[in-house]
Amino acid sequence: MTEPYVIEMSETGGVEVLKQVARAPRSPGPGQALVRQTASGLNFIDTYHRTGLYPVKLPFVPGSEGAGVVEAIGEGVTNVAVGDRVAYLGAGTYSTHYTGSAATMVKLPDGVSEEDAAAVLLKGLTAWMLLFEVRRASPGETALVWAPVGGVGSLLVPWATSMGVKVIAVTSSEEKAARARSLGAQEVVLSSGDVASEVRALTGGAGVDVSYDSVGKNSAQASIDSLRPRGWWVSYGNASGPADPVAPTTLGGKGSLVLTRPGLFHFIGDGESMRRGAAALFGALRAGTIKAQVGQTFPLNEVAKAHQAIESGTTVGATLLLP
Ligand code: NDP
Repeated sequence: MTEPYVIEMSETGGVEVLKQVARAPRSPGPGQALVRQTASGLNFIDTYHRTGLYPVKLPFVPGSEGAGVVEAIGEGVTNVAVGDRVAYLGAGTYSTHYTGSAATMVKLPDGVSEEDAAAVLLKGLTAWMLLFEVRRASPGETALVWAPVGGVGSLLVPWATSMGVKVIAVTSSEEKAARARSLGAQEVVLSSGDVASEVRALTGGAGVDVSYDSVGKNSAQASIDSLRPRGWWVSYGNASGPADPVAPTTLGGKGSLVLTRPGLFHFIGDGESMRRGAAALFGALRAGTIKAQVGQTFPLNEVAKAHQAIESGTTVGATLLLP
């Protein structure tokens, strides 16, 4: 059996700051459970923590979600038991073992593997937040979806489509365009072209109701220029770097646009909303509306390669780290 370890960084920077460090699992305190992790989901936010874009207290064990089997529980824990298969969002999941609040752990329904759960929990809850909580997506509306075959995108596109939303996807290659179509996108525009002009042409000049924009710096202007009056620019990520500031008068001049910058943790802060989101997510998985899309896996101790892959824009679907 692998000796327990974590991936820790004691400074911010390139992938070389991610170091393997032997560490014994921490016994669960009251209300906590100790999980032997079988999969940890890689998320773009982990790269923001590594580079310092989102400041963290050092030394830091990155990783925001995981899944595995409960090995021990602390005093007062009733919602999970030893041997249960669980998934969770939490800090420090780049590790062979994870100890955290049991209340935030979701028991996996039969038929959902730990790998699939680690692939969909954070990214699928993000899709749920975008479609149901930030604003409710409506049948008949048109949405622009950036990075449509990535971790979040490959869940967002089919889920939106199932709600009757017409998706125009924006991606970087013909290969990814074909994949976006197979996920349900009705139209695809290449990010190398004039996205806003093509979107106008595809919508009879009207523009889209909403832009789900995870790209940030390189997509901001095209998102704004693609919206109909009173359309929503939902800027939820920074894959190309943070978007530049936008003056309120710009939003006014372009047609009373709405700009929001949602963060998942503000939408699942209490147990009730997390349970609601997880129920919607696992319901959509069970119904076949969305499917876990594990695009690539890396051994946990090769996490540097995984970060390079996601930062190069070459990954599709979710990326898993396997301890
Ligand atoms: P992805 O799998 O979507 O990977 C990023 C994708 O962004 C790439 O594959 C690429 O897709 C696109 N991209 C465009 N420009 C660049 C660039 N310069 N460098 C790298 N990629 C680029 O990642 P995730 O699914 O993990 O996350 C997607 C986004 O959602 C991230 O920005 C993340 O921060 C954000 N997010 C936000 C949350 C929130 O609460 N606000 C929660 C979860 C994720 P293509 O080739 O199709 O253009």
